[in-house]
Amino acid sequence: MVYANSHVIDMEKLRRHEQTVEDLRDTFLTGKTRDVEFRLKQLKNLLRLYKENWDRIADALSQDLRKPIAEAKVFEHAFLIGDVKHAIKNLRKWTKPTNVPTCLANVSDNAWHRYEPFGTVLIIGAWNYPFMLALMPLCAAIAGGNCAVIKPSEMSPHSAAAIADLIPKYLDSSCYKVVTGGPETAQELLEEKWDFIFYTGSTTIGKVIYSAAAKQLTPVCLELGGKSPVFVDNTADMKKAAQRIIWGKCVNLGQTCIAPDYIICTKEVEDNFIQECRQVLCDYYGTNPKASKDLARIVNKRHFYRILKYLAETKGTVAVGGEHDERELWIEPTILVGVDPTEPIMSEEIFGPILPICRVRSADDAINFINRRPKPLAIYIFTNDNNTSKKFVKFTHSGSVCVNDCLYQSSLHQMPFGGVGDSGLGQYHGVFGFQTFSRPRAVLERSYSNFENVTAYKLRHPPYLNSHVKLNAWIVERFDMLFVNPWPYIPYLLMFILGLLVMFGIQKTVR
Ligand code: NAD
Repeated sequence: MVYANSHVIDMEKLRRHEQTVEDLRDTFLTGKTRDVEFRLKQLKNLLRLYKENWDRIADALSQDLRKPIAEAKVFEHAFLIGDVKHAIKNLRKWTKPTNVPTCLANVSDNAWHRYEPFGTVLIIGAWNYPFMLALMPLCAAIAGGNCAVIKPSEMSPHSAAAIADLIPKYLDSSCYKVVTGGPETAQELLEEKWDFIFYTGSTTIGKVIYSAAAKQLTPVCLELGGKSPVFVDNTADMKKAAQRIIWGKCVNLGQTCIAPDYIICTKEVEDNFIQECRQVLCDYYGTNPKASKDLARIVNKRHFYRILKYLAETKGTVAVGGEHDERELWIEPTILVGVDPTEPIMSEEIFGPILPICRVRSADDAINFINRRPKPLAIYIFTNDNNTSKKFVKFTHSGSVCVNDCLYQSSLHQMPFGGVGDSGLGQYHGVFGFQTFSRPRAVLERSYSNFENVTAYKLRHPPYLNSHVKLNAWIVERFDMLFVNPWPYIPYLLMFILGLLVMFGIQKTVR
């Protein structure tokens, strides 16, 4: 780690969080967070935090991003409530051990596996959905039975302050702690030894996190970004496609990791689509979208100028929108046409309300376009032709796919959420989050039975006799076939017994 203008590494600063991590590790070793009742209690407290602090959450989001109240309510409140309720409802099931059938050689043994916590985990959040991206992983970490440190993003300071203030009031402070600060704090935290790291943010910083974790062989989940493409064909319901794509792009003013990043379509589709988009934008936000309460603002000046640079540099033409206002960090939802696939706007994640359109000749051409770029977090296909959507699902790679809508695939607690390749590593939401924050541990309980003395011990122990080796190898090769799992046969056995009873009953009555 290097500090600006300093050749001397400040060890005190470097290990500032050592005590925090040690304290959490000590708590974890007491077994407190492994107890399912304890986990349930903490999850219920988290639910109470959400329910009792809606005003505080909405206010922080408004100050950080001028997030519309409707978007805050759905994405950063209702969704979190649904997520924690889902965990509370299913936790006992998720934590149950799974018995596995034993083979003839282990006939009197018990074999099972169960998801067990990693230990002390680090959660680093991003700014665009500051509550969701810090607290959903926390819910999964608690469900998994871990102790956790949460570092919310410094770029949404009001939300970070609210999280730092609320968590100790509702959750057990000896198990869950919040550390606030920027990249330097994150780097200091990364110097510590963690049992698991969960990171949400850009692909560039994701690589920094991955290499820091690799130094200590720490497993990670990386929820990264990327360019999520949208393909629209001429069979799509153009009005509905425009409504759904514009909504997906304008939620949080385009600052959503799975927002549609760019459109690929034919020239014919482009003309119809733009016409519909003009109308939809007017229906949603009126003739003066800047005055609409339903559009957020860009998070800060750095990101404002980063997005404006795309507008200034692109060779494409503005078909819709194009206005901006630095004082308000406002950029109007803008559609660009005639964009060249080699321009920077087509290689970097836009993360703002600009929607470039690139022309392709066909669905195959579009698939080729997608496959030649880094694997995206999401792919959106708008079509009424089943074969086309099936083809995209089969021949492309991405974290998720949604046919005929945007963002909705992430709303189901039953579905995994995560990226692949440049867009991430690992997944969460629902049971996938629980599994990400834990690992299945195999346990075999052997007995000292006489049967196994013959089948296993005699055969496997030295001196290795030729006949024993042959028989042992024969058994090992057939392990799969020698499993003794009586459960599938029980219904047949019951039917057989019932049949016998009926037969005897009939014979008795006839006599
Ligand atoms: P970011 O990478 O700048 O910051 C995210 C976190 O990393 C913050 O907590 C920050 O303090 C920390 N950080 C920043 N620099 C660091 C460094 N050098 N070392 C260690 N930690 C550092 O990302 P961002 O701008 O906050 O978020 C935007 C990006 O995140 C976009 O690419 C977006 O697509 C992606 N994102 C992904 C998801 C997802 O679920 N896949 C969700 C939201 C955002």
